[in-house]
Amino acid sequence: MRGWVKDRAAPGDLVYRTDLPVPEVGDDEVLIKVHCTAICGTDLHIIDWDAWAQKWVQVPVIPGHEVAGDIVAVGKNVTERKVGDRVSCETHIPCNDCYFCEHDMAHICKNMTLFGVSINGAFTEYTKIRWDSTFLLDDALSYESACMFEPMGAGVHGVEAAEVEGKVVLVSGCGPIGLTAVSASKTFGAKLVIACDLMDERLAIAREMGADVVLNSGKCDLPAEVLKLTDGIGADAAIDITGAGPAIRSGLKSLRAAGRLVCVGLPGKPVELDLANDLIYREIRLTGISGRKIWETWEDFAKVMNGPYFKLENVLGQRFALEDLPKAIEAIRSGVPGKMLVYPDFDT
Ligand SMILES: [Zn+2]
Ligand SMILES: [Zn+2]
Repeated sequence: MRGWVKDRAAPGDLVYRTDLPVPEVGDDEVLIKVHCTAICGTDLHIIDWDAWAQKWVQVPVIPGHEVAGDIVAVGKNVTERKVGDRVSCETHIPCNDCYFCEHDMAHICKNMTLFGVSINGAFTEYTKIRWDSTFLLDDALSYESACMFEPMGAGVHGVEAAEVEGKVVLVSGCGPIGLTAVSASKTFGAKLVIACDLMDERLAIAREMGADVVLNSGKCDLPAEVLKLTDGIGADAAIDITGAGPAIRSGLKSLRAAGRLVCVGLPGKPVELDLANDLIYREIRLTGISGRKIWETWEDFAKVMNGPYFKLENVLGQRFALEDLPKAIEAIRSGVPGKMLVYPDFDT
């Protein structure tokens, strides 16, 4: 079969192969015919062979983990999936055996296997995965939507942690994950969603995805504006998607006392916070988010996708044939916005 392989432990492009064997399914696995795969920042880390890749990637490996397709074979122990099921996959494959797995926190399992990173993924025609890491798609969900569960699920998980119903919610950062958090906040009943970003074009899209108020945080005093909008009280919850120190600090200052700061975006370096004044005296709760809850976040995200606020076209970039994967990577590197999709069978 055709596919792309990271074949050596060094910086360098993926290698296109046409002679890869179709994987043989193990007893607890399913074989998936890939319909499409979205490209993730993680895939660029694998190509560039940065410190993260050096720690996690086992070469040779077929990268690609944001996938949707059809089950075409099942292992002999698999009873809850069948040939013909449409599925997406959870990248974080838990061990089902550690303290976290046993206490309903499998998404932060300490012995995680990573699909498309430490085992073969989906930049190919067929891929296999443990059946219990597949999510069944309802008929209303397109394969393209299904590729968004994995990359944007952290935004929905952030909204779950913020317990948004009836609340004033500030979302900082309006890239695809932030836009998802905006639409999820509205879907789950936030009273007022304030979206902020440094780019006006992104804020216009945030409005389309349900934001009640948009603020360019580069052009205003964000905490002061949030206070004005909330009768001097502040937001109930702030969800940070940016991972940027200044944005995290102004999100924290925009909260009311006993509000909740939810951190989704990953800072590239340690962030300094005024814990005494901004957090401790005000009894702020601080929550970190890693990945998606298995499967609560997926089920919630399906509701968001099927709801009125989430608009797939606002988060999609361009579509490419599998063979043209390097062109898709080039588009990402040159700053073309939105998620890029590759299709093994691309006919349009
Ligand atoms: Zn990803
Ligand atoms: Zn575990």
